[in-house]
Formats: sequence, C-alpha cells, structure tokens
Amino acid sequence: MTGTIPLCIPDLGGNEGRYLQECVDTNFVSSVGPFVTRFEAMVAAHAGSAGAVATSAGTTALHVALVALGVAPGDLVIVPSFSFIASANAIAHCGALPWLVDIDPATWTLAPALLAQVLERDCERRGGALVHRASGRRVAAMMPVYTLGLPADMDAIVGIADRHGLPAVADAAAAIGATCKGRPIGALGARLSCLSFNGNKTITAGGGGAVVGDDAELLALVRHLTTTARVGRDYDHDRVGFNYRMTNVTAAVGCAQMERVEALVAAKRRIRAAYDAALAGLPGIGPFPAPPWAKSAAWFSGVVADDAALAERLRGRLAADGIEARRFWKPIHLQPPFAAAPRTAMPVAEGLWQRVVILPCSTNLGDDALARVIASVNAAVGG
Ligand SMILES: *Cc1c(COP(=O)(O)O)cnc(C)c1O
Repeated sequence: MTGTIPLCIPDLGGNEGRYLQECVDTNFVSSVGPFVTRFEAMVAAHAGSAGAVATSAGTTALHVALVALGVAPGDLVIVPSFSFIASANAIAHCGALPWLVDIDPATWTLAPALLAQVLERDCERRGGALVHRASGRRVAAMMPVYTLGLPADMDAIVGIADRHGLPAVADAAAAIGATCKGRPIGALGARLSCLSFNGNKTITAGGGGAVVGDDAELLALVRHLTTTARVGRDYDHDRVGFNYRMTNVTAAVGCAQMERVEALVAAKRRIRAAYDAALAGLPGIGPFPAPPWAKSAAWFSGVVADDAALAERLRGRLAADGIEARRFWKPIHLQPPFAAAPRTAMPVAEGLWQRVVILPCSTNLGDDALARVIASVNAAVGG
C-alpha cells in the first residue's frame, strides 16, 4: 500500500531491449533501417491503412500531413479547441491559423452539427476556394481529434468535409486500437491520420509518430517531405522539406511495442471498465464519453466531476493518498499563442475542461493499485 502510483508510464516488458541491442550490433541507428520499415508495416496494418510513414513525433506527423495536403501560410484549419496544444501548433507551423470550434459533449471533439453550421454561416466560395468571410482567409482543411482515443463521428464529419471540398487530417495521436462502427482508425475517411508514439501513449517508441493513409501518391509526398525533399542520392532537393523521419533506434522500441498492441490496448480498456464499474454510481462524478457506435482505445481514463471545485478536491485527495491524478487539456482558445485565432463560442469546452480528472492508467497498473485509486475516489466524494 505504499509508493506513489504514477499517472501513465510505459510498459517495456517485451523485445525492446533485444531490438535496441540489435540496432547497435548491426550499426543501424539512423533513419534508414529495417525496424523503421517494419514499424511502418505494422502500424499501417493495425490502422487498416494501405501505408504509413514513421516520423519523429506526433506533432511532426501532423505538420507534414497538413503541408502534404496543401495547407499554406495564411490559411485556416478547423480544429476543436479542446485538444492538446500540438494540434494547433502543427497548424501554426504551416504559417496557418487554427479556426477553433467547440466540441460535441458526446465525444469531446468536433460536433458535426456545429461544424456544418459554422461552415455554412461563416464561409463563402470565392473562385475555387472556401473563404472564411470575417478574416478573408482560405479554409484549407479540418482536423478532427480522437480525444482520449475515442474516434470522432467521422461518417458525419467526412460527409461535411466532402461537401465543402475540405480534406480531413485526423489527429489520432492517442487512438491506436480504437474502432468506429467496426473500422480501425486509418479507415474512417480522413485523407491522412496521424499517430503519436510519445512516452505516455498506449504504444511508445520513446518518441515518434506516424502518418497513415490509403493514397500511395500522397504518402510518397509525406515521405519525401520528412526526408528533406531530397531527389536522388546527391544533394538535390526540390522543395523546402523537413528532417522528420523516425530513427531505427526508436522504431526498434516501437516494433517491440507493436508486437503487444492488442494486449496493451486491452489493458487500457480493462482499466477504463474497472473505473466505470466502480465509480460511475458515485455522487457528483460521471464517466468519460462512450457513444455506442465507437470503441475507444481508452488511452486515458478517469472521471468528470459535476463541478470544478469537486474535481479540485478529488485531485487533492488523490495526491494526499500518493496517487498521481491530473487535469486534462486546457482549451486552445485560452492559450496565449492562439488568443487571436478565429473561434466559435465555447460553452461545452469551457464548461468541461476544469471538471476532468485523469486517473492512473498505465497498462501495467496492478489490481492493488487500481483498488487503491478506487478507494481514494470513494473517500473523496463521500460514496
Ligand atoms: C500526444 C498528442 C499529440 C502530440 O504527439 P507528440 O508525439 O507528443 O508530438 C498531438 N495531439 C494529441 C491529441 C495528442 O494526444
């Protein structure tokens, strides 16, 4: 019953060490190597996509995906305000601005009805482009976010995107293992989907990301852009590229993790189910969203308090009991770098973010630790 329970730590219980040693033994430590190729094949297959390009991070995956789809300086990209700052940063790295919209209370990401409403109300066609009337900027893409590993309602969102000629780039950073109407995250209709293999994600490579998709030509462009847009073997480059490739060393860790992807995702779901079963009946708190048409990857689990004060009290009690519990994302429109970004009213995001309590959810969280967390939450809310 002693020791702090961390929020979310990696589980490196497979072939990670062996594969890392193999990188050293074979002298393949850089961005060319058999683990990179293998990792891409594993990620593409798992995502239900034709191909994958491994990148240095989820953020760089998002950036390069947007560039590949033609997002240019001055453009707007629609993104939910309730996301990790990296979603907006990737847009800003293109010289574009996020158009921040409020979220659907049922999924905590883009609300199809609101999306359709703002596109129709605030935009007009000028030439071939969709233009945001108030700012005069071209709307170039939309970025649904699979919040906490729960896919957005992509059938509806892609329908709206198609109607307006906008490509969708999915921020599926934390969604590996999720399905929507039985389909995996690469098969939900986004032109490109981006994953993260950061240290706190379900599958980690230490750091890293991937862009997955079905359009071979588009993926070839993504790959080209991640490797300094080099043409041929000499120092010829045909545009401004990036140095965004994953290395063989990180891919080695990623491959070892991907070998256990089913078990690691199952562990996340088991933790979610345990919290939901034990805590959902308590006064003042409720579970995370779980619409019937999707199966969340349950990257993070926790509870939503009825008000911010209770959430604060809950986090305080957990901390006192040696349990790491956290707030979740502060909406992007409240972050100083994006204060000037166009945005909708934010009743859902603003009402939500301070009420979320993330509970420990490492894939190797033991039953004793789980029971300790549940007891602490019980004590805090007086159940
Ligand atoms: C983790 C995460 C990212 C960023 O991924 P990095 O690999 O840390 O760059 C982006 N968006 C969301 C929603 C995330 O959860």
